[in-house]
Amino acid sequence: MNKIYECEKCGVVTHERDHLCVPKSVDTMDTYCGSTGNVSNMCDSIRENAKFTCVTCGRTAEKADLVCDTIKLH
Ligand SMILES: [Zn+2]
Ligand SMILES: [Zn+2]
Repeated sequence: MNKIYECEKCGVVTHERDHLCVPKSVDTMDTYCGSTGNVSNMCDSIRENAKFTCVTCGRTAEKADLVCDTIKLH
């Protein structure tokens, strides 16, 4: 199991801690999915990598398997 990290500033989720400006370790998808991250302030360091958004809760993620229901942004 890969660890999951959420950016405390913009709310993007990823497996790569280094991609986030203010990384916070989270246990499961349930912790963040359902609450929308503030992606209008998405950090530059993650912007290019955050390719997926959840159609249910609006959360942005680097990998499709990090959110409950995705569409591809790019
Ligand atoms: Zn961020
Ligand atoms: Zn979701």
